[in-house]
Parts: sequence; structure tokens; C-alpha cells
Amino acid sequence: MSDNKKNGQPTRVTIFIDNESCTGCRKCVPACPYGAIVIQDKKAVLTEACNWCGACVESCQFGSIILEIPAGEKMDVSKFSGVWVFCEQYEGRLKKVALELLGKGRELADIQGTELAGVLIGHDIQGMAAAVGEYGADKVYCIDNEELKDYRTEPYAKILEEIAKRYRPEIFLFGATTTGRDLAPRVANRLQTGLTADCTGLEIDPEEGHLRQTRPAFGGNVMATIICPDRRPQMSTVRPGVMQAKKLGSDHKVKKVKVPVRSSWVEARTRLIKFIKADRCHVNLEEAKVIVSGGRGVGSPENFDLLRRLADLLHAELGASRAVVDAGWIEHDHQVGQTGKTVRPEVYIACGISGAIQHLAGMQNSDFVIAINKDPNAPILKVAHLGLVGDLHKVVPMLIETIENGDSAEA
Ligand code: FAD
Repeated sequence: MSDNKKNGQPTRVTIFIDNESCTGCRKCVPACPYGAIVIQDKKAVLTEACNWCGACVESCQFGSIILEIPAGEKMDVSKFSGVWVFCEQYEGRLKKVALELLGKGRELADIQGTELAGVLIGHDIQGMAAAVGEYGADKVYCIDNEELKDYRTEPYAKILEEIAKRYRPEIFLFGATTTGRDLAPRVANRLQTGLTADCTGLEIDPEEGHLRQTRPAFGGNVMATIICPDRRPQMSTVRPGVMQAKKLGSDHKVKKVKVPVRSSWVEARTRLIKFIKADRCHVNLEEAKVIVSGGRGVGSPENFDLLRRLADLLHAELGASRAVVDAGWIEHDHQVGQTGKTVRPEVYIACGISGAIQHLAGMQNSDFVIAINKDPNAPILKVAHLGLVGDLHKVVPMLIETIENGDSAEA
């Protein structure tokens, strides 16, 4: 039974199975999209894969699956206004996704008739505040302290909680980066609001004014649009490369708000001893200017060496379709598409990739697409700015030779 009760009311969402009434009929097993229900000793048992979605509840004709949802205090959502973007920075440089979110945030703020604010946390961050303004913010909250130089979950989450409670934004956006994915759920929990992770689309519902947050669900088989009507702020993480950064220029005025840091904000149970950068070649597809990407047409894992050579010459990152990731030819880090990474490079070179809709979803916003495919009817050629119909094993070595014989990568 659930033990999360206070005055007889649940304090968090919980799901449990009443053993007495459960008959072990198995009807709930296929009802769970996460495969989180097993039958043990003729009783249904929830495993750790359960995420309390409640999809199984209706499948039980005996009412043995019980979902407890806390009533929650009613929040006056009209008291919240403004769109906020967490402007993630690393070593004094704003992450590209922060600029992309400011672009989207500007659009949302204009529709809502409200202001757009960037939130900058770190040390010696004043220089970045101007850039936050150039990319659309009306205001930038600067939380500057030596203790905040490196990201740590506790102080950053505490600070965002404190300032969000003080200034009450109606929308709060984060990049779906390692930091954003760590931070946003903690802030949402502290603010007792909802969070939609990995959004690929954000828009304002014209009737209700709620934020419509769209993201792939159930392994990418459906697109779900989620709203958070009763709580504020409405919080989302958005994958890098999905939204478009829009530079407004240096004449766009930004108001800097220095938020004094209280000592309790920087207290934490953790401290950073040393930051060791991974020496393995990190795949940074989201920030890459050029991507050479391979699909099943490459033929074998060994043949990827050819694409690696081309990528090295072009100072490019190596991408891949899901088909070759699933086949184990290359690691998932390289996958581009709906269930991989969303990219927006200046040049995307697709080699032996058919151009399935799920692949296009991750790369169709590239500035210039070059496709090499032996099938003149391959769908990728319809989105390509330059299509080379031919065998990649002949075309790619010719490209490599041309570059090696004098044409520089920049050319
Ligand atoms: P194929 O479709 O097999 O295409 C191979 C291409 O190579 C063909 O066009 C062929 O003409 C060409 N070719 C063959 N030999 C040569 C040669 N020698 N020279 C030149 N061209 C050659 N896919 C993704 O990529 N990313 C995703 O994130 C993703 N998510 C998905 C999510 C869901 C829910 C589902 C159902 C599918 C997803 N897929 C994803 C899979 C997608 O539907 C395709 O199956 C996949 O993209 C196909 O990969 P491919 O283009 O490498 O292979």
C-alpha cells in the first residue's frame, strides 16, 4: 500500500496493486506501454519500469490497480507572466541551444504580449548578457558568484526555484542538454509544476493561451501534445537544433537585473574537485557546422572508415541513420533523426541514406543538404539541394581525392 499520505491525502502520484482483489488475469500486462507489469505468484506486480502513467488502470475490471493523485492546491495562473529561457553557458560561452530557445521564446512572448527574459548563472557572466539581448531577450537575470562558476545541481536548482517564485514566469524553457536534463526536472519538482521533456514543437493555444508542448512519444510512433493548464510555470526542455536562433542586433535593448546571491543559495552537499574532460572523441552533432552521415548503403561497419576520412578532411562530425545504429555498425551517439539527434548544420552530406521520414525529422533544417544515393528515386534526393546519383563507394573516394589534391575544406 502507498505510504505517501498526509492527513489521509496522497502527497505525490503513486500507483499500486491491491493484492487481495487482483486475480492475476493478465489483462493489465499488455495495457502497459512500458512493459512494467509482470505476473508473479498469480498476482500482478509493478516493476521499476513503471512511470505512473496510469495507462493500466482501466484495463483492470476488478479495480485492483489504484492510481493516487494528490489534489494539489489551486494555483492562480493569471498571476504569472513572462517567458524565461535558461541560458546555459560553459566556460564563458553561451550554448547554441540557449540562442535557439531565445528565438522561440521571443515568438511565444510576442504572442502572449509579455516580455522575454534570459537567466544566466555562473561567474563573470556579464559579457554574455549582451548576447542574450541580441538574440531577443528584453531582460536578463544575472546570477553571478564565484561559487557558481561550474554547474552543480543543488545551487543551480535552488537559485532557479527562488527566482521563479519571486518573479513568477508563465513559461520556462531549458535546452535538453546534459545540464538541462539534470536541472529542469528538479526545478519543476521544487515549483510543483509539470515539465515536458525533449519537445520538438512549442506553440500557444490561441483559445486558452496555454503552451502546447509537442514531443515524440512511445518510441517516436506518435507525437503527443501536452499542456499544463493548472500549474505555472509551464516548463519544457527542447532538443538542440530544433528551434531557430534569430539575431535581432545590438540595438535591441536588454535590461540587466543583477540578482544578489544569498549564501544559502550556494550551499551544497557536493563540491567539484576536478573537471576532467572525456578524451574520447565526443560526438557533438548539434553544434557541428558540417556533418557527413552514413546509412545502410555504406554496406558495412568497416566502410564507415571512408566516411570518417571525408569527415576528418571537412572538420565534420559523423552522423548515421538508425538502420546502421540498430545494426551495431556505429554507436547511438551518432544517430540523426526522430529518435536520435536533431541537427542544423550548414552542410549535411547524406551517404547511402534513403531519407525515411524519421531521418528527415532530424536533419531537414540543415542549410544545405548533399545526398549521395544510387537510387534516383530515393526520398532524400527530394530534400537535397545537391543530389549525386551514384555508388557512394566511387563518389566519396573521388571527393576525398579532390580535397586532398588541393581544395581546402573551407573551399
Ligand atoms: P535504407 O532505408 O535501407 O536506405 C539505404 C539507402 O542506401 C537506399 O536509399 C539505397 O538506395 C542507398 N544505397 C545502397 N547502396 C548504396 C551505394 N553503394 N551507394 C549509394 N547509395 C546506396 N531512422 C533514422 O535514421 N533516425 C531516427 O531517429 C529514426 N527513428 C525512428 C523511429 C521510429 C518510431 C521508427 C518506426 C523508425 C525510425 N527510423 C529512424 C528508421 C527509419 O524509418 C528508416 O528505417 C531508416 O532511417 C533507414 O535507414 P537507411 O536510410 O540507412 O537505410
